Amino acid sequence: KKYGSPAPTIFSKIIDKTIPADIIYEDNKCLAFRDISPQAPVHFLVIPRTPIPRISEAHDDDAPLLGHLLLVAKNLAKKEGLTEGYRLVINEGKHGAQSVYHLHLHVLGGRQMQWPPG
Ligand code: 5GP
Repeated sequence: KKYGSPAPTIFSKIIDKTIPADIIYEDNKCLAFRDISPQAPVHFLVIPRTPIPRISEAHDDDAPLLGHLLLVAKNLAKKEGLTEGYRLVINEGKHGAQSVYHLHLHVLGGRQMQWPPG
């Protein structure tokens, strides 16, 4: 088994379309949908179809997939009209405050971000 903690998450159900999500993009490698609890005027997630639980479990041969997620994120940010910039975030594990163990890239924009003080 390639990944250590393969427990399916809610994001698998979004990929399967067994639960609804506001999907804004999909292709054969990934899916993007709006966060259910948006932290900015624009807040969406880009996730691989492959259930990599967390960035710390990514392998060298995931590099093309990881690069693809970044490129999809910046293309969608442009499509969403984030001309003044935006933030890309990957939360990892406990200290990263990761809550869903299916790798995801947050894209946040539409307001001024502050560097996290806390
Ligand atoms: P994390 O804290 O793991 O980096 O982020 C998980 C994100 O997924 C959170 O921002 C949370 O609001 C979002 N989320 C959790 N469950 C769902 C869901 O069922 N649908 C959608 N669209 N977003 C979800």
